[in-house]
Amino acid sequence: MIDFDKLIDEHIKRESKPKGIGKYYPSEAGSCMRKVWYSYKYPSEIDPDLRKIFKMGDIIHDFVVEVLKSEKTKDVELLESEFPFKEKVEDFLISGRIDNLIKIKASGKIYLVEVKSTKGIQWVNNASPHNVQQLQLYMHFTGVHNGILLYIDKTNLKSKIFEIKYDEAEARRIIERFKKLHKHLVENILPEAEARAHKESNWMCKYCEYKERCFKDTPKAKHEG
Ligand code: SF4
Repeated sequence: MIDFDKLIDEHIKRESKPKGIGKYYPSEAGSCMRKVWYSYKYPSEIDPDLRKIFKMGDIIHDFVVEVLKSEKTKDVELLESEFPFKEKVEDFLISGRIDNLIKIKASGKIYLVEVKSTKGIQWVNNASPHNVQQLQLYMHFTGVHNGILLYIDKTNLKSKIFEIKYDEAEARRIIERFKKLHKHLVENILPEAEARAHKESNWMCKYCEYKERCFKDTPKAKHEG
């Protein structure tokens, strides 16, 4: 018989290109800086199971576009979807792809919409800080200062929406983080084990493919007991 898992693996397999120092991505704005640094210095193949999770995210994104474009969707107009942007900051680039730009017909108000898939919408009570940071950068660079984070449950298509206010100071703080990351990469200096050093972010380490390397480089991070 056919092995359909294998067919899926082969279908979605992509050559992973190493990331070039000097080009950074808003989706990584809220990640642990050390993890992002490792991903430039020690690129790793994406695990096939993780690739499937990413693919599921793409399928949800396509579905959102289908809903927004539909003639049955009367109140909202989809102006653009999946549009790229590039912004030069000093001697590096911040580059990304914005999910959707919509217009609310009644008010004429235009929003950037960033879509995130989840598998437990009942636990999503606030917009996640690293998703907000990504959207802040998009709002800052595009000049569209109204943002929406749309979470969709991939198990049942239930959704929650959070309107995000543009915060220029926050956007500038995130740009400063990219400057710091760039400096660490260019000068080949390992950043602090950021996620491990703070109680609110140490959950990130559980999902980090560089965990072993990180503990080897720094057996005990600042504030770790
Ligand atoms: S293990 Fe934690 S602190 Fe270390 S790189 Fe990964 S996310 Fe950052």
